[in-house]
Amino acid sequence: MPIESYNPYTNRVLRRFTAFSWAKTERILGQAHRAAATWPATTFAHRAGVLRRAAALLRERQDELARLMALEMGKPIADGRAEALKCATCCDYYAEHAEEFLSDELIKTDAGRSFISYQPIGVVLAVMPWNFPFWQVVRFAAPALMAGNVGLLKHASNVPQCALALEKIFHDAGLPPACFRTLLIGSDLVEKLIADDRVMAVTLTGSEGAGAAVAATAGQHIKKTVLELGGSDPFIVLADADVALAAKTAAQSRMINSGQSCIAAKRFIVEKKVIKEFISHLKTHLLALRPGDPLDEATQYGPMARPDLADELSEQVNDSVAQGAKVELYGGQAKPGTALFRPMILSNIKPGQRAYAEELFGPVALVLEAKNADDAVRLANDSRFGLGAAVWTGDPKKGEAMARQIESGAVFVNGLVKSMSEMPFGGVKKSGYGRELSYLGIREFVNQKSIWIG
Ligand code: NDP
Repeated sequence: MPIESYNPYTNRVLRRFTAFSWAKTERILGQAHRAAATWPATTFAHRAGVLRRAAALLRERQDELARLMALEMGKPIADGRAEALKCATCCDYYAEHAEEFLSDELIKTDAGRSFISYQPIGVVLAVMPWNFPFWQVVRFAAPALMAGNVGLLKHASNVPQCALALEKIFHDAGLPPACFRTLLIGSDLVEKLIADDRVMAVTLTGSEGAGAAVAATAGQHIKKTVLELGGSDPFIVLADADVALAAKTAAQSRMINSGQSCIAAKRFIVEKKVIKEFISHLKTHLLALRPGDPLDEATQYGPMARPDLADELSEQVNDSVAQGAKVELYGGQAKPGTALFRPMILSNIKPGQRAYAEELFGPVALVLEAKNADDAVRLANDSRFGLGAAVWTGDPKKGEAMARQIESGAVFVNGLVKSMSEMPFGGVKKSGYGRELSYLGIREFVNQKSIWIG
């Protein structure tokens, strides 16, 4: 199967790549394995130099990278630049802090001296998605490389040019080539790679299905995994909130990357008293957004990343409406097989509907009515997912108390849920396990070794 770079806005194939054979993949794995023996011998300062140069290149090449994202997966050009810059910040962050995060930690025991030493584990395989084709990879690669690990990237099949551009950035920054390689392979070779003794661990961001498949194989071979999967993030609006500001942020959050973000707000759980006002503001903000060619600077949202993803979302919407959901804002696809999907709002979301139970990975806002704050938390937690969440209230103390009760990896009170280098990122329930970013992220793929000296 060739790996295809495909423009979802024009419906045209941009480039075809021949997928790597197993022999080629295995050769690269061998080189990575050898590099894993020498890379940890470099100093933190040396590795930080490489990461800082990578950050500089990400900044320098932001236009080129944004263009690639616009072409391959429909991200508006301005958002692509912002993604490249966020990646640069992450490289700088780990260049600055990795040594401190991984320095020996003295622990008082019955020993003369005892401590935890954090040591690299070797080759880590990263299976990554298309929605943030640089950010998803960099938040794995920056800490992994600083820790002394080496990375192999199996990127989503629809973003091969982004995958190769990132590999080039690391290499141009002075990273020994074998320390980070892009493998142009389909998911069929992933199982074989995980089974190989030279691969020590796997990190995956993507769907539940992909996560379950990869973790099952890794489990069979006793290998660690970190999984960052989907979410159906609740966004609670209480009656005492600044409803206008909440609705503005709601629109922004729901429309991140044309709605294709794991931490986009998806379920808007609103107290009855303000639900009409909220929907009205939300509608205004969504209608004001300008769709179009992602290469056009004025475009505010582009097509979804692939026509099949838009087809699937339409099915979820149609089924939910047939099951009783009410359309508050009409939008959706112009016709099946096309990737542009105009924002929609559905209300009257109830158990038994697909929209209640499933993740809607696109620009569809679901509005649920809550009787009060407790009911809002109950609805928020009545989900198989637990990635991010937001609470909007005029009473930050109440917001904090609710944040503690919500089953998710992150809760933002009166703010837009986002990932950042300083704070851990990941989920509970079917949203996955393990953490990326912060000092916790860099400690996922290290041997946390106890050393006891009598
Ligand atoms: P997938 O989960 O299928 O793809 C993510 C990555 O996993 C890709 O690199 C893909 O490779 C790989 N992959 C898929 N199946 C397997 C497998 N069995 N073994 C090994 N690797 C595998 O996402 P989709 O593109 O199909 O998107 C569908 C849904 O996934 C979305 O609707 C959303 O729910 C979720 N998703 C979540 C994301 C997040 O940020 N958490 C990001 C993207 C999607 P290949 O492309 O070659 O199939």
